Amino acid sequence: MDEIKICHIYPDVLNLYGDRGNVVCLKNRLERRGFSVSVFDAPIGIAINPTEFDFFFIGGGQDFEQEVLLRDLTAGKANAIRTAVEEEKVMLAICGGYQLMGEYYKTWDGRQYDFIGALDLYTVGSKKRMIGNFMFETEGINGPTNIVGFENHSGKTYLGKPLSPLGRILCGYGNNGEDKTEGAHYKNVFGTYSHGPILPKNPAFCDLLIQTILERKYDKKQDLEPLEDRLENLANEYMVNRLK
Ligand code: GLN
Repeated sequence: MDEIKICHIYPDVLNLYGDRGNVVCLKNRLERRGFSVSVFDAPIGIAINPTEFDFFFIGGGQDFEQEVLLRDLTAGKANAIRTAVEEEKVMLAICGGYQLMGEYYKTWDGRQYDFIGALDLYTVGSKKRMIGNFMFETEGINGPTNIVGFENHSGKTYLGKPLSPLGRILCGYGNNGEDKTEGAHYKNVFGTYSHGPILPKNPAFCDLLIQTILERKYDKKQDLEPLEDRLENLANEYMVNRLK
């Protein structure tokens, strides 16, 4: 069987609240199903070939870190990421990384970061931080499912009309604390405010990404072998019940 290739974008600057755990979890759930998996780190200064990888991950970071990587984005990564998105590569982008997929971010103190415009969304900073455990409903492999996570952002994100949210807020703030939307879903890109990290906390969502990766790679419907994940699901249920 071919190797599943993961590209971790900016592991050096965008890694809040253990976002890297998402890569560890996805790799682990693939390996437990018999796949071999490689992870390529693409920090500042390292170019990405968008056709080479099956899955791209980009974590969150503070305004400071987002500003630090602006030059590296225009030097090549922005183009590579846009190509990967349009080629329907599977991608998970968290918080600061999710904002970066959009058009721009205006910080609360008046700076503007022009981002990559891969997704039709923009972000505006507010003085109030949106912080805490939160929960949203999204479409899972077997119908609607609840996702639990942790958010901490001052940016309020607004989606353009054609862009679908990833889910609907049940508890917490999500994209902007106003319209009950959370995250964005475009082609095979999943953007979310959920740190946590989201995948170990929500194994069913990790499997949705794995299924999408395999379907994109092999161009046919995939049924995933179930895994023994009683403890993971108990932890997930505990949080779902706490946030209900
Ligand atoms: N700069 C962002 C904000 O505060 C992102 C924060 C994050 O990634 N947690 O809105």
